[in-house]
Amino acid sequence: MGKEANTSVELRASDRVLPMPDSDSAEYWEGLARGELRLQRCTACGIAQFYPRSLCATCGGSVEWFAATGKGTVHTFTVVRTHGAEPFRSLVPFTLAIVELEEGPRMMTNLTGIDPDDVRIDLPVELEPVSAGDITLPFFTPRADS
Ligand SMILES: [Zn+2]
Repeated sequence: MGKEANTSVELRASDRVLPMPDSDSAEYWEGLARGELRLQRCTACGIAQFYPRSLCATCGGSVEWFAATGKGTVHTFTVVRTHGAEPFRSLVPFTLAIVELEEGPRMMTNLTGIDPDDVRIDLPVELEPVSAGDITLPFFTPRADS
């Protein structure tokens, strides 16, 4: 009998190295703290991008922020079953996924609320903000409406 899968997340800020917001990403992190996924869209070519940058990565145009739906699908994933270091050693097995957002960009994330053995390519997922002390991380979970 294997170890029970982690289908929920409990994070302590001291457990892991956390992102440090900068001037390009502050609005993104502030949005997550409110439960909102904010992306940038180019004002010239209209392409949405992630991660946050000061200019459009496609054409060099200026960017504006908008609220994304927070919905996407699993583009690809891997299940981490062994890890040598904390905090990840205590979290295995967990699912590391690349989610393709409805707006186009892809994000690397963790999936929560699902047994790793049940994750599939194209699984519909939605944003599940997870608080880790002073910062909120963008995890994803299977969509309630799917
Ligand atoms: Zn552009």
